[in-house]
Amino acid sequence: MPASSTAELIDSAAIRRGLARARVTIDRHAAALTRLDVVLGDGDHGDNLAIGFRAIEDHLGEVPHETVPGELLQGVGHRLVAAVGGASGPLYGTAFIEAGFAAGSLELLDPPTVGRMLLAAASGVARRGRCAVGDKTILDTLAPAAAVYARLVNAGTSDADAGRAALHAAREGARSTRSLVARRGLALRLGPRSVGHLDPGAVSCLLLMLALGRR
Ligand code: ADP
Ligand code: MG
Repeated sequence: MPASSTAELIDSAAIRRGLARARVTIDRHAAALTRLDVVLGDGDHGDNLAIGFRAIEDHLGEVPHETVPGELLQGVGHRLVAAVGGASGPLYGTAFIEAGFAAGSLELLDPPTVGRMLLAAASGVARRGRCAVGDKTILDTLAPAAAVYARLVNAGTSDADAGRAALHAAREGARSTRSLVARRGLALRLGPRSVGHLDPGAVSCLLLMLALGRR
């Protein structure tokens, strides 16, 4: 396996920049996410995530500059769980906590490590939400993107190419939720009437992956 070039290594500063971009993205799309949640859920997804990412920004201002990526992400996850009412706080919080745990105490994350972190995040969401791919949730975006990224970087593909493929998979996954019947979350009660609408969590997950994945 080729050694990663320094351009492919992620440090805490890069994670902080990614989370700052995520906050901007969520604020920009909060109204649209909430509109999706009006249809399938309880009409607050964008507002809840905006609260969550403001709390993350506060957290990042409080933790020492030298905090390693894994510890930073675990703290971010716990802050999300605490700050956001509703399903998405605990779910995204678990994703960040598990990703942070998978990063261990490394100061620099290489692409195979990022692959393991994404897979750990997806497993965490599946366990916490008791959901599987195809249930019309966040996982429909996260799981295929994680699988594609991990597979490609482990086969020696560059971070840039694997990242592009992962974002393509994330986009396809989010789109796929339109034709699915919801089997988890508030949309469950709509049964077949949930078909024809994008899942708000799958869309917010795509937006977050786009923001976090950009360099
Ligand atoms: P909030 O609006 O507080 O973010 P919701 O309960 O409205 O939370 O759900 C938002 C999104 O969270 C849903 O669109 C779905 O993607 C995801 N979600 C909800 N419940 C589950 C679950 N059990 N497993 C996985 N994802 C879920
Ligand atoms: Mg909601």
